[in-house]
Amino acid sequence: MAHKQLHVAMLASPGVGHLLPILLLGHRLATHHNLRVSVLAVTVTATTSQSLSQLITSLTTHNHFSVIQIPAADVSGVAPPDAQVILQLCVMMRETIPAIRTTISAMDSRPHVLVGDIFAIESCVIADELGIRKYVFVTGNAWFTALFTYSPVLDKLVVGEYVDQKEPLEIPGCKPVRPEDVTDPMPNRYDETYNVYLDYAVRVTLADGLLINTWEDLEPQSLDALRTNEILRSVVKYKPVYTVGPVNKRYEPESVELKGGIIEWLDKQPNRSVIYVSFGSGGTMSAEQIKELAWGLELSRQRFVWVVRPPTAHRPDGSFFSDGQSDATFDYLPEGFLTRTKHVGFVVPSWAPQVEILNHTSVAGFLTHCGWNSVLESVTSGVPMIAWPLYAEQKMNATMLTEELKVAMRPEVSPTEKVVDREQIARMVMNLVEGGEGKAMKMNVDILRDSAEKAISENGSSYLSICNFVKDCWSRIQ
Ligand code: UDP
Repeated sequence: MAHKQLHVAMLASPGVGHLLPILLLGHRLATHHNLRVSVLAVTVTATTSQSLSQLITSLTTHNHFSVIQIPAADVSGVAPPDAQVILQLCVMMRETIPAIRTTISAMDSRPHVLVGDIFAIESCVIADELGIRKYVFVTGNAWFTALFTYSPVLDKLVVGEYVDQKEPLEIPGCKPVRPEDVTDPMPNRYDETYNVYLDYAVRVTLADGLLINTWEDLEPQSLDALRTNEILRSVVKYKPVYTVGPVNKRYEPESVELKGGIIEWLDKQPNRSVIYVSFGSGGTMSAEQIKELAWGLELSRQRFVWVVRPPTAHRPDGSFFSDGQSDATFDYLPEGFLTRTKHVGFVVPSWAPQVEILNHTSVAGFLTHCGWNSVLESVTSGVPMIAWPLYAEQKMNATMLTEELKVAMRPEVSPTEKVVDREQIARMVMNLVEGGEGKAMKMNVDILRDSAEKAISENGSSYLSICNFVKDCWSRIQ
């Protein structure tokens, strides 16, 4: 056994926000820890964007790292067409288990370990069939992990809807979660998705350990609670918790994406003068909110890069499965907006090279939906944020960024109108780019950037934690 190479199969559910960190963690395991890694990427047909394909091509030049794409099963007849994204993902992954099983059995060497994201948890049955260990890679943070795994207990303790509670929800050993911040699908306990969510929360704790995309210095309290708080430990069934983050795309100056028009435009702007606006791979807004945002950017008189998508009526995650494909007519923007702002703004449809933009010296701030990958990319680029959460656990992320880490400001949404108005947007953008608050946040985010860098460097906390994970895997197969 001593000469053998540890072979890890990593399973990613559809969605860039899931696949990207799996690819990057897998690549790190192969390059820094000498493992053989096979990533099984379950993808919805024709949705792998050009930049993702380029990334896969560049990563797979390493001999011991490979990526196999598996088309997601068609669930149109199984999940209701209007089902929440979370439910669609769970059903898709469940229905794809036979294809995953076939792919794994066709491998030239059987994997020793299976690592999957949360939505891949049902596929752990394959690890059980093979008699190998299974780990869950939480692509979010430790505070979310604590709430998620504790949810089945909360379900018994809390009467009525979470969002109607008068007091914050207590998570043992962690910061409490405000009722209005709970992760999807907790706001609606009567939706079928909520039951699936609870089921997954239990299944996750049956894995042999949890890998979390965070680092010790970022979340000492939640990590300590997951490891030492008796109640939470019993909830996660005393499983080891490994910090492996930040796992996020790093800036590479030679990237082919740099040749795009956005970077050339940024090159011509003054240092730290531009706000970058983007809502991740899936975020969309109402027509009214998009117009207010456009007016707000214009009123702020600041420079901006804005990745825009057509409005959706009711779904903040409306483009989750469309992966950056949409037309560029922009007819939903206020009349004359593009002409009036053409000297200060760059509007791009659907998709932009985010990491390259965040690392550009002209960028001063990021108006983000607070997807965890976007947050980590902003932090590791030293860019303060405006936190505009839309779905999933993003409200918790926004609260952490604004109240705890103090690297972001957050708009107030009118409870009656449900929109953030243009004056508020303009004020925040000005404040972030030019104001004293923006400067203080920049200092805070630079400290976090350095601590992130330290965590993943050799002998840093995440590096050592990954070493422990690898050691743990070896100890079970030798
Ligand atoms: N992304 C990008 N360009 C875009 C939008 C998104 O490169 O125009 C990338 C972004 O850098 C991040 C990922 O897509 O790595 C989105 O993940 P995140 O967790 O932020 O949000 P999600 O899309 O899962 O809600």
